[in-house]
Amino acid sequence: MSWRVNFIDLKTQYAQHKDDIQRQLNEVLDNTQFIMGPKVTELEAQLADYVGVSHSIACSSGTDALLLALLAKGVKPGDEVITTPFTFIATVEVISLLGARPVFADINEQTYNSEPAAIETAITERTRGIIPVSLYGQAADMDEINAIAASHGLWVLEDGAQSLGATYKGRHSCGLSEIGATSFFPSKPLGCYGDGGAVFTDDDSLAEALRALRVHGQKQRYRHHLVGVDARMDAMQAAVLLAKLPHFQSEVELRREKGAYYSERLAGHVITPVILPHNTSVFAQYTIRVPERDSFCASLKDDGIPTAVHYPVPVHMQEAYSDLGYGAGSFPVAERMAHEVVSLPMFPHITKAQQDLVIEAVVKATSRTTQHADALAAP
Ligand SMILES: *Cc1c(COP(=O)(O)O)cnc(C)c1O
Repeated sequence: MSWRVNFIDLKTQYAQHKDDIQRQLNEVLDNTQFIMGPKVTELEAQLADYVGVSHSIACSSGTDALLLALLAKGVKPGDEVITTPFTFIATVEVISLLGARPVFADINEQTYNSEPAAIETAITERTRGIIPVSLYGQAADMDEINAIAASHGLWVLEDGAQSLGATYKGRHSCGLSEIGATSFFPSKPLGCYGDGGAVFTDDDSLAEALRALRVHGQKQRYRHHLVGVDARMDAMQAAVLLAKLPHFQSEVELRREKGAYYSERLAGHVITPVILPHNTSVFAQYTIRVPERDSFCASLKDDGIPTAVHYPVPVHMQEAYSDLGYGAGSFPVAERMAHEVVSLPMFPHITKAQQDLVIEAVVKATSRTTQHADALAAP
């Protein structure tokens, strides 16, 4: 099967920054410091500056960034952590791995992010913290969530794996709460060429704990004051990110333009993303909603346009989480969205001609289904 447009095109980006990337990688090969080291330190300074926080702790993946944050907050068996059922599994997995219990709060059907009111309802005496996820590239309602957390003595960890580069009331995602975490998985808005992630905080002692936890709980070699993990970043990934970071902001702006163009042309044909006025989105995914998703995706596939579903099964309906006692109907909005959402090709260098191919295929697919117009007309 050959696609007429890639879902994400990393080759164009590599071609544009090839010289910088190769120069950075060659420096690592020449000095042979492959794990952590000066490239990682330099990257951390630039990332902290970009997000607007005092500390950035680079690590081995977005999942490990979340895990480090929970370890630093001392999450333990019996604790409860509130998050969204409509996310990538990693957000929830890290809670369970520490023996704590994930508690879900249903989402808003416009933004797909957890409703602050639903979060507040889910708080019990065992709740220790909240992990809002800034899904698809738009920050969750962080001020509201921070206020709820503060009034109950809870911490807030923003899962910004899809939202680095997004702003909320003029401030950068990942720097909107006590801790933020992001991922540099290749297809994320800022991707490296393997696995990578980072934690962000303004809190000095938390940053110190995070740095130690990342290297087996040591501050000094072979002296371990905490039980940690191996979550170090390798220097090749830092090198790739150092080459890409100077171009990131202009890519973020391109993503916003491409997202706006899709929304302008697709309005009235499908349910387009709702970006709240105080937010800017990086469109980690450009995600629409259609009532008859299977036939819609099949029609686009026939036209050579790839699609992806983020995510087809909410976490509370996953087999691995059947023991939590949730079931069908527990989180109706998340469950409905899981049936209707579909993401279209999106990357900063997508051309207008490529977007037009996607738009044409979407319009064709939706005009085929009769129910479609009715669903859009419904309140
Ligand atoms: C990608 C992602 C993660 C995990 O990041 P990895 O780098 O793949 O470990 C966590 N949460 C969300 C919302 C993600 O999209």
